[in-house]
Amino acid sequence: MHLAVIGTGVVGVCTAAWLLRDGHRITFVDPNGPAEACSFGNAGSISPSACLPVGMPGMWRRVPGWLLDDDGPLTIRPAYLPRVMPWLARFLRHSRPSEVRRIAGAMRALLAPVFDCYEPLLQRAGASGLLRREGCLYVYSSRQAAARWQWGMDLRRALGVELREMDEDALLALEPDLRGRFRYGLLAPDNGAATDPAALVRALYDRAVMDGAAHLRMRATRLDRRGNRLEGVMLHNGERLDVDGVVLAAGAWSARLAGDLGLRVPLETQRGYHATLPRPNVSLTRTVMAVEENIMINPMSVGLRLAGTVEFAGLDAPPRYERAEALLRRGRELFPHLDTTGKRLWMGHRPCLPDSMPVVGRAPLVENAWLGFGHGHVGMCGGASTGREIAHLVAGRPTEIDLHPFRPDRFHLLAA
Ligand SMILES: Cc1cc2nc3c(=O)[nH]c(=O)nc-3n(C[C@H](O)[C@H](O)[C@H](O)COP(=O)(O)OP(=O)(O)OC[C@H]3O[C@@H](n4cnc5c(N)ncnc54)[C@H](O)[C@@H]3O)c2cc1C
Repeated sequence: MHLAVIGTGVVGVCTAAWLLRDGHRITFVDPNGPAEACSFGNAGSISPSACLPVGMPGMWRRVPGWLLDDDGPLTIRPAYLPRVMPWLARFLRHSRPSEVRRIAGAMRALLAPVFDCYEPLLQRAGASGLLRREGCLYVYSSRQAAARWQWGMDLRRALGVELREMDEDALLALEPDLRGRFRYGLLAPDNGAATDPAALVRALYDRAVMDGAAHLRMRATRLDRRGNRLEGVMLHNGERLDVDGVVLAAGAWSARLAGDLGLRVPLETQRGYHATLPRPNVSLTRTVMAVEENIMINPMSVGLRLAGTVEFAGLDAPPRYERAEALLRRGRELFPHLDTTGKRLWMGHRPCLPDSMPVVGRAPLVENAWLGFGHGHVGMCGGASTGREIAHLVAGRPTEIDLHPFRPDRFHLLAA
């Protein structure tokens, strides 16, 4: 089959790589190159343990404090508040304990095989070295402070995530530069990280092109369908790309095109920021999640990356790099010797659905259209398994993961 893959982020590129293994002909449609949007600057954590939704029980109580704190992990631009309120209300409904258990179970199934799903792709690309597997440390100021997250950690354990307790000595034996602020930690030994997420996506994309994938550097403006069949992808120059099928993987920009497939998907952008420091004067050997500060810290080939924060301001508002500076201020509290010389600041759009789960599946009203978007905070982790599962669906094979929780029409189906 000749398939258009819309989007050259991690999800589109992984999906194309899996589809190429089945012998399909691929044309990427994207005005941008690989990993130039959200997949460029994420924290690169590859975490089978990251199965909890963003909305957790009781979280709403902390929101006012976060909103009042300029350096806090959450901001909502006032002008955007009315627009995002209905989405936030839905988001909160998914933070009930029963919902969190359901979501975590489904996400664990999607994320657990992450390394198995990357491995054959990276091996073919000769890029296995772009993934590290030495675990991730969740760190806290004290054991007492960690108690607030106990429920979630217990849930992770119940779903098979290994978490090893580390007292201060054990923590510092692993990572001496955590000395000072952190006195307690949990090591997730099965986690890993990308040494540079953009390089990883580019390597897979380059291999896909070597394996025959074409790339039309154009924006898809509409998915053209007749009845229950997609016939082509309309491009911004007015031309139509005729294909046998389409995979929609346009990250935070996917909702409008999903509408052409008869789906109304409440996709929101949670804008996140990073600061990458080429000479940080801090030495870490694995990814560290400073849980109380909500900052992910990853020693990458491109420097030490501090990433996090959630900002609701929509797709069009310009970045507010003050948010990335706030990450650096927090970083200096954690690591007093942090050297920020040569810092690079970045903002990206996390594609988020209110239940913190992506859409993965076939369009219910269109037999030759598949969707893979909405991976939120875990697209680097979920992209490879999403690609494998979409390839199974396209081939008509049984999936290896129960995709029912990720079905595209779980929010709303428009009229056929
Ligand atoms: C600060 C931060 C830290 C993060 N940390 C992590 C982490 O540690 N681990 C993790 O797993 N995830 C992390 N994430 C999330 C992860 O980066 C995203 O989930 C993931 O990159 C989304 O990938 P994607 O392919 O869906 O979208 P993107 O990478 O955004 O790609 C979408 C592509 O679609 C294209 N496109 C859009 N509209 C159209 C159109 N109309 N026609 C054609 N093409 C179009 C765009 O040009 C873009 O290339 C983080 C995100 C942020 C912001």
